[in-house]
Amino acid sequence: MNAGDTHAYNEFRGTVRRFARAEVAPHAAEIDRDKRPPVEAFEASLALGLPGLPYPERLGGQGGDMLSQCIVLEEIGRVCASTALTVSSSWILMAVMDFGTPAQQQSIVPDITAGRARCAWGLTEPQGGSDLMGAKTQARRDGDAWVINGTKRFITNGGWAEWYLIFARTEPKRFGLFLVHKNDPGVSFGAQERKMGMRGSPTCDVILENVRVDAGRQLGDPTRGAENIGAALMRSRLHIAAHALGIASGALDEAVHYTTGREQFGQAIARFQMVRCIVADMAIKVEAARATLYRAVQMYESGDPQAKLQASIAKVLCSDAAMAVTTDAVQLHGGYGYLEDYPVERMMRDAKVTQIWEGTNQIQRLMIAKDVYDVLA
Ligand SMILES: Cc1cc2nc3c(=O)[nH]c(=O)nc-3n(C[C@H](O)[C@H](O)[C@H](O)COP(=O)(O)OP(=O)(O)OC[C@H]3O[C@@H](n4cnc5c(N)ncnc54)[C@H](O)[C@@H]3O)c2cc1C
Repeated sequence: MNAGDTHAYNEFRGTVRRFARAEVAPHAAEIDRDKRPPVEAFEASLALGLPGLPYPERLGGQGGDMLSQCIVLEEIGRVCASTALTVSSSWILMAVMDFGTPAQQQSIVPDITAGRARCAWGLTEPQGGSDLMGAKTQARRDGDAWVINGTKRFITNGGWAEWYLIFARTEPKRFGLFLVHKNDPGVSFGAQERKMGMRGSPTCDVILENVRVDAGRQLGDPTRGAENIGAALMRSRLHIAAHALGIASGALDEAVHYTTGREQFGQAIARFQMVRCIVADMAIKVEAARATLYRAVQMYESGDPQAKLQASIAKVLCSDAAMAVTTDAVQLHGGYGYLEDYPVERMMRDAKVTQIWEGTNQIQRLMIAKDVYDVLA
């Protein structure tokens, strides 16, 4: 798609919205209740090529830009956050396009774009997620191979994914990135976590015990893993912001729908000024978050050096909007908002983690403050 072609993006959004309503929404409550991956919706998303969206066409992808990726997350996240997360997990191995060799790209990416392989990444460890440079997982060189030992915690798609991008220490102050397959000897998985939300997305420990991988599984320079993961994190921060924006938009949809139909004191509650004021504030938060995210996307696409700062701002605004708007949506449903029978209950639970993962909103604020001082001081 041409970045200036608004019509093409609107058409694309319409296609994804219809797909989300027809193929994703019907399973959203069920996968949350049964705590199982969105198998049907993921399979259906292959018809639109969504798992392969950002990958190049020569490897079976669609070469979709960042705006189209965000549109997908927004529209699917609007009806089912777990499914949006599952689709975007396939995009994690875009790191192979950034830092991988042609042989690595050829051997891994076509399976992802065809939906034969799912992906995950392992950064967080039991002793901490915010302090990434404190990671203890070690990759030790042994001849031409690497031997990896450590535990990665809270891994989305853990046990369900075939490929794991593992961040490991290769020197006392240096890190590397490694491609680990679920069937590699020494790889095992912890029990599935029992979570507040995102229950349709598997999460567990990935345990690596003397996992031996050959040099072909080393991704990029084994001493530049921290720098390389930084680039991947900026991209995923935009994804996570779009995902949170989708949750917020979905909760606003539900609130408008419910307040229009529910009557108290002989009229629709949507006619009460105080209710309208809450809905107006929800819309303000959603629109402010969307404008900030799209500006971050534009800066990312144009290679603007301030794109990282804007991506952090978008992550904070979109996830804080998701939490606030879903909480208001529950409030506007009264007692019914507290029941599993209405989607806003799930949306509020799903929203919380968007403030926690991918660099908590406290860590984002630390990074934003640093950049602001660097630029303005
Ligand atoms: C459902 C789910 C899925 C996830 N998926 C993945 C995944 O696929 N891959 C992966 O690698 N990780 C994943 N994570 C992990 C997630 O990224 C981490 O939980 C997150 O980075 C926070 O790390 P932590 O949980 O260790 O919290 P901590 O780092 O221990 O932080 C605890 C609290 O202290 C605050 N804090 C920490 N340091 C500072 C500071 N310097 N200043 C101010 N406040 C601070 C934090 O903001 C937070 O409020 C997932 C987590 C969840 C819940």
